[in-house]
Amino acid sequence: MADRRGLLIILSSPSGAGKSTLARRLMAWDTGLKFSVSATTRQPRPGEEHGREYFFLSEDEFKQQVAEGNMLEHAHVFGNFYGSPAGPVKDTIESGQDVLFDVDWQGEIQIRNSDLGKHALSIFILPPSITELRRRLETRAQDSDDVISKRMLKSWDEISHWGYYDYVLVNDDLDETEERLKTIVQAERMRRIQQPRLQDHVRTLQTQFEEQS
Ligand code: ADP
Ligand code: 5GP
Repeated sequence: MADRRGLLIILSSPSGAGKSTLARRLMAWDTGLKFSVSATTRQPRPGEEHGREYFFLSEDEFKQQVAEGNMLEHAHVFGNFYGSPAGPVKDTIESGQDVLFDVDWQGEIQIRNSDLGKHALSIFILPPSITELRRRLETRAQDSDDVISKRMLKSWDEISHWGYYDYVLVNDDLDETEERLKTIVQAERMRRIQQPRLQDHVRTLQTQFEEQS
């Protein structure tokens, strides 16, 4: 048995608030962290690779995966389907490694309500202002003006679900947000339920206590 159980770390934010940047920094900080590569029916962006950022599936392939019960959660976002494969998650957390999910609020709710929900840690990233959110989306320069407008419209829907999350971080200074994120992860790893060996340890303490009294 591993010393600790892994967490299902869920990061969500309106598009452009900095979630992917923070996810990359968290993975660089702890190379044992496993990123949950989602499946999606959206087209790959320049530089994205099948199996690295996403598994790019046709709508039929995606629906088949859902029908076969292979998705821990799934949702329709910006006119495309997205879902988190369930397969490796349970084994990974049993082996003591955390799994990082970049999903929207619909994914957060479904993961929280799943069998593994008690091991979930959800963090919502807010932008410092709407002007800055638009600026970040524009400087990322990965999407057309049309897609950016669509994402801005969707951002209030995403922000309005901030209250479902365990933690909320305003991503103003990137380095500071990264530090706060790491602090949260470090603390949450010590939740009682994340430490399967504690019960044995307390039993040992009890035996010692009885022997010495
Ligand atoms: P998301 O994954 O939430 O859509 P990204 O991580 O792609 O957002 O960030 C969008 C853009 O904003 C990127 O160009 C990123 O470098 C930049 N960015 C992220 N966080 C900050 C920050 N705290 N200050 C300034 N720019 C940021
Ligand atoms: P993007 O197209 O910018 O990569 O992602 C768009 C939105 O879909 C983001 O809010 C992202 O968090 C969300 N998303 C990505 N993968 C999944 C997933 O597997 N499930 C859910 N519910 N949302 C996802």
